[in-house]
Amino acid sequence: SDTMDAADTRAWMGRFFAAFDRERQALTDLDRRSGDGDFGANLRSALGRARAALDEAPTATPGDVLDVVSTAFLHTGGTSGPLFGMWFRQLAKATRTEVVGVAELARGFADGTATVRRLGGAGPGDKTMVDALVPATEALTAATGGLADALAAAADAARAGAESTADLVANRGRASYVGEVARGVLDPGAVAVALIVESLRG
Ligand code: ADP
Ligand code: MG
Ligand code: MG
Repeated sequence: SDTMDAADTRAWMGRFFAAFDRERQALTDLDRRSGDGDFGANLRSALGRARAALDEAPTATPGDVLDVVSTAFLHTGGTSGPLFGMWFRQLAKATRTEVVGVAELARGFADGTATVRRLGGAGPGDKTMVDALVPATEALTAATGGLADALAAAADAARAGAESTADLVANRGRASYVGEVARGVLDPGAVAVALIVESLRG
């Protein structure tokens, strides 16, 4: 199908929760090497709240599902919680119709990524989640085929963006305190973005 509804969006989040459960320790290890080691715990607390809230909340549109996830992140500590929360909130705003397609997703990714950049002050190359969000957004925006092709392109772009952070030295966030020490270490926020976007593929 070339559209997504609320059930598809719940399935997307379910795949993301499962991917995170598999990768939690690895993400924590990345944050231990470049930051303070709480990334996995921060994300786990957000996703625990998101899961519980989704069990209770009636959701008629993709945006309703994403709003629940947004709220769960906004109530989470760490730098990444509020940034992911605002990213999901913008995506939710763009997806409040019964079904959405590539155009709505691209708009939501663009608005969410712009908000993260404005709030955090990071741009591409600063070794943050922005390094995965920007190429994923560009891939969705440039997509000309159907939904499946667009999501595959976005997933590949997000993963490549996350991989690119290994070579970078951070200019934002805690990783900037350790500078060269974190060269060679992937940014955990960017890897989490890759998991989110890869999970969009059914
Ligand atoms: P904290 O540093 O507060 O412990 P987390 O561990 O929750 O934060 O999240 C760390 C992630 O947050 C980093 O991997 C990076 O992707 C992201 N991040 C940190 N600072 C910024 C920023 N200014 N802009 C965008 N993303 C950021
Ligand atoms: Mg941390
Ligand atoms: Mg912290």
